[in-house]
Amino acid sequence: MSRSVLATWATAFAFIIILIAGWLHAKATIETQLREHVLAMAQLAAERTALTFDGVGETLLSIGDNIRPGDIDQTRNLAPDRRQALQALLAQARARNPSLASVALTSASGRLLASSPDHYDASAPGEHMNDLQASQSEKQAMPIISAAFQNPSTHVWNVRMTHRIGSGINGTTGAVLVANVALDEGFTKFFQHYPFAERDVIALHDALDRPLTVFPIQSASVVERIQEPSAGTAMAAESADIVHYSASATDNSTHLVATRKLPRYPFYVAYGKDIDSWLVQWRQEQFLLALAAIVALTVTAAIAAGIQRRLGLTGQLQRVRGDLEDSNNALRTALASAELLAARDQLTGLWNRRTFDQQLESAIARATRRRDTFSLLLLDIDHFKNVNDYYGHVTGDDVLTRFGEVLHERLRQNDVAARWGGEEFVVLADGANLENTRMLAEQMREAIAATSFSPVPRVTVSIGVAEYRPGESGDDLLKRADKALYGAKRNGRNRVIAADGIQPSQRRLA
Ligand code: GH3
Ligand code: MG
Ligand code: MG
Repeated sequence: MSRSVLATWATAFAFIIILIAGWLHAKATIETQLREHVLAMAQLAAERTALTFDGVGETLLSIGDNIRPGDIDQTRNLAPDRRQALQALLAQARARNPSLASVALTSASGRLLASSPDHYDASAPGEHMNDLQASQSEKQAMPIISAAFQNPSTHVWNVRMTHRIGSGINGTTGAVLVANVALDEGFTKFFQHYPFAERDVIALHDALDRPLTVFPIQSASVVERIQEPSAGTAMAAESADIVHYSASATDNSTHLVATRKLPRYPFYVAYGKDIDSWLVQWRQEQFLLALAAIVALTVTAAIAAGIQRRLGLTGQLQRVRGDLEDSNNALRTALASAELLAARDQLTGLWNRRTFDQQLESAIARATRRRDTFSLLLLDIDHFKNVNDYYGHVTGDDVLTRFGEVLHERLRQNDVAARWGGEEFVVLADGANLENTRMLAEQMREAIAATSFSPVPRVTVSIGVAEYRPGESGDDLLKRADKALYGAKRNGRNRVIAADGIQPSQRRLA
């Protein structure tokens, strides 16, 4: 796997980690927010309920204030003349306080003395007193909440609030005011105020974990469920923030439940928020978001891989092209040196005979075109065979090489020197007439004779020169030069003979 592919994978991996971390963080955040929200709602519901109790309690106190000591006689019956007045008083109180479902005045033994319309008494005779005694509040002369029941005709849950009215004689209870408190009224307003609490539930229970009421009434099963784990704990820590999840297997709902104690009353409100609708929607959004991110990532990775593949191909192509260029260059160099080799004499580095023939043709063409002239020098080393014989071929080769060098040193810019073959050389003196060429040949002959070819003590050369005659062929020119050379040999060697009767140089060097 290439490094860039690894990098792509690492990026994808990091991206997914960040995505998961972000998702977990968002989940924790929303859960914290929900938790705080449910706690706040429980607190509000608890305060609201306590205010309802306060209101009903105050109503009961004011009714109590309106019952005179003489209203209830020794037989603990209501004085006949007061009955109607008290009945009206109770009806008025009921009308003034919407949370007061009904109110009744009973004797201490539970006998109904007067009541507001539609009063429903779910209690058994004497139960009120038991409630009062159990609550130890007889002496406090304050209304107490004693029980909860469902009105069979309205199905509304009521909380019963009782308030004893002292007779003034021995401080004993003369009568009892029994109020049915309808918390629905307050809760309905509460939920109307918080419309997003649509599927939420409220349960009220007492210090002994007994459920007193639920709202809405149809969620009784949910409320019973959500109470269970929280109530007991709530008892231990009065106002602790108790929040827990309550999942139902039957209706597939999950509630986040917070329990708070009512201010001033030994009761508890469990507030349950149906979080499914929230979390499900939120999870769906998160899932779609994650899906979109993964799709985007995959597409990006695919594009990156495509680009990388193309880059790889381009790179390969460039490498192949580079290789081709390299081998082309090598070929060109090889070709050039091959051409050079083909054109040059290997031993002396002078032009070879083939090249010289071409040069000669060019010189003839040039001379014809320019009406110019040129000459040839044909050089043959004297008694070279002896060099080989005495000093060996290697020394013979060295002499040939050195001889080539001396020739080369003497050339002018446009002159051409070549090895004609064996120990014979030819020089094309550009633009030179016979006389000039003869002088050049003389200088060369002298230079050779003056050069040390150690270990060979003395090397001399015979030279035949010929000037080009207009219209003459190269072969003819060469023949004439060769003839002159032959003359030089025949005349004793180490001399220059010019073709066509020009007198050979008689000068000889030591
Ligand atoms: P002359 O003065 O008449 O030219 O006598 P010569 O000995 O130079 O002439 P000849 O043609 O008899 O001998 C030429 C010799 O040059 C014969 C041959 O072995 C030798 N030779 C030709 N080419 C080479 C070469 O490339 N290397 C060496 N070492 N000798 C060569
Ligand atoms: Mg020869
Ligand atoms: Mg020779």
